Amino acid sequence: MSLVDRAVVTLLPAVPKPLIRRISSRYIAGPSLDDARRVVAGLNAEGKLATVDVLGEEITRVDEAEAIAAEYVAALDAFERDGLDANVSVKPTGLGLKLGYDVCKRNVEAVIAAAEPTNRFVRIDMEDSSTTDDTLRLFRELRDEGHLRVGPVLQASLRRTVADAAALAGASVRLCKGIYVEPESIQYRDDQAVRDSFVEALAALLDGGCYVGIATHDEWLVDRALGAIAERGLGTDAYEFQMLLGVRPELGDRIVGDGHTLRIYVPFGRQWYEYSLRRLQENPRIAGYVAGDIGRSVFRRS
Ligand SMILES: Cc1cc2nc3c(=O)[nH]c(=O)nc-3n(C[C@H](O)[C@H](O)[C@H](O)COP(=O)(O)OP(=O)(O)OC[C@H]3O[C@@H](n4cnc5c(N)ncnc54)[C@H](O)[C@@H]3O)c2cc1C
Repeated sequence: MSLVDRAVVTLLPAVPKPLIRRISSRYIAGPSLDDARRVVAGLNAEGKLATVDVLGEEITRVDEAEAIAAEYVAALDAFERDGLDANVSVKPTGLGLKLGYDVCKRNVEAVIAAAEPTNRFVRIDMEDSSTTDDTLRLFRELRDEGHLRVGPVLQASLRRTVADAAALAGASVRLCKGIYVEPESIQYRDDQAVRDSFVEALAALLDGGCYVGIATHDEWLVDRALGAIAERGLGTDAYEFQMLLGVRPELGDRIVGDGHTLRIYVPFGRQWYEYSLRRLQENPRIAGYVAGDIGRSVFRRS
């Protein structure tokens, strides 16, 4: 990351909200459910599936967590009414994990109860390492209680992940690099080490009969994944690719054009600002773009 990019990343919270909104609009459907419906309909028309995330990571009260669960239920109802091909992705902390494991489980169950009658899938996103054990426990309990259309996420940057992957035989698992910065004792820092861990975890998941959501925009990994799938002679019922809304759409189009399933992660909700900051801080090239945009808005007064 260049010095300018690093400075922009640090200063992002000081950038005016409307400017962040404009720059991040390609990553977020918008503040309302109608925005999510519109974006998902557009993706479906392009042959892409969706998984929808209600933004709400900063909750501090049980009623806020319940309100987010209710938004998921409303979203699932709307997708069914509109005939849209969309699932949901939930965040344990958004549904109350930090307020109590049982609070979170109750809310996830409410979302599952709305998803199951129409065969829609509930993905449990993986957050920072303080939640990993509880999140995997939540998934296992729900599965053991007979909920089969629910699945966790593994983060290849964590040193534990290959072992976790081997223990999840038969599950539907999303595999990603992981966005949270963790202590080096539990996380690979070297980019190639993260990629190698991704490849190894993917092999363990495919060999364990898992349905894998291969969530990456890294072409090197996409090519390795295609190799691993071809080597095993797997059909499109064994995997899908997943990407974030607005990130590397040309790669997504290529994946769909080559006949693979692609699911796009579509965030929406009133907490768009916090999500945007995280996405922008994550990507130095976008940070450079922010710098350019700020420059343009400062110098162009008309
Ligand atoms: C569908 C999906 C679900 C995810 N769910 C989780 C989750 O539950 N938990 C979790 O910790 N992480 C999650 N992530 C985030 C993931 O862990 C990575 O942080 C993110 O995907 C970037 O890693 P990458 O594999 O794309 O590789 P990178 O090497 O980071 O990116 C490859 C290229 O993609 C482009 N790119 C990547 N990210 C961005 C961005 N934000 N904006 C613009 N361009 C970008 C850049 O051109 C970059 O060079 C998810 C990602 C996806 C795609």
